[in-house]
Amino acid sequence: MLEVKNIYKSFGRNHVLRGIDFNLEQGEVLSIIGSSGSGKTTLLRCLNSLEFADEGQIIVNGEPIFDASINKRPSESELRQKRLHFGLVFQNFNLFPQYSVFENVTLAPKLLNKGGKEEIEQYALELIESVGLRDKVNSYPCELSGGQQQRVAIARALAMKPNILCFDEPTSALDPELTGEVLKVIRSLAEKKMTMIIVTHEMAFAHDVSDQIIFMDGGVIAERGTPDILDHPKSERLQAFLTSF
Ligand code: ATP
Repeated sequence: MLEVKNIYKSFGRNHVLRGIDFNLEQGEVLSIIGSSGSGKTTLLRCLNSLEFADEGQIIVNGEPIFDASINKRPSESELRQKRLHFGLVFQNFNLFPQYSVFENVTLAPKLLNKGGKEEIEQYALELIESVGLRDKVNSYPCELSGGQQQRVAIARALAMKPNILCFDEPTSALDPELTGEVLKVIRSLAEKKMTMIIVTHEMAFAHDVSDQIIFMDGGVIAERGTPDILDHPKSERLQAFLTSF
């Protein structure tokens, strides 16, 4: 369902991504691991059209949604269309503070006409329930814990019915006791065969939930494979990275 081909991205002289290639099948979970500055967030941002790669192609369900050789800067309306393929859950939740949980989840689908009002609201309630926050539907972000806010952010991303849900270190801003509740929601999405890409430093979680793992180092994929690569790393770089935990 997703083909990422030969992605290069530089910021000035900083060559952050230097030829990234991978494929992801429908229903698979890919975790991206790697040390700070290895380019993980930049890769997610390129996939979500928040940055534009200098070279390469991104294809979703056979449709090229990005091709650096053709069109580096799509128009705003093209961008909105491209971004619909992906949902993105950030490190710091990024909820709208002035809106309730319910409004946070319904706002974008209503603005982008992702169905009738009743249908959108019904689906939002189902999603809010599925992340365990039915009793918080009218609460505001400031009234929620970090873990609860992150669960709202996941429901909000799902409300747009993305093909692929991306997470950028979804638990790194959370206290350890709140991390588990967010990982549980992501785990249940994996069980429901949601296609996901997860940038994470939670190695045990990545090991359990992933079909594929990519280890990035210096802007390239230094090692890839099933979660077994965490038990039996081949490259010295991955061995060294894993011993830092
Ligand atoms: P971390 O685990 O710390 O989040 P990362 O692997 O996600 O790191 P990136 O955030 O992708 O790494 O950053 C990779 C490099 O790209 C860093 O050197 C960073 O300073 C640089 N970079 C990222 N975004 C920009 C930008 N908008 N402008 C300039 N440089 C940037």
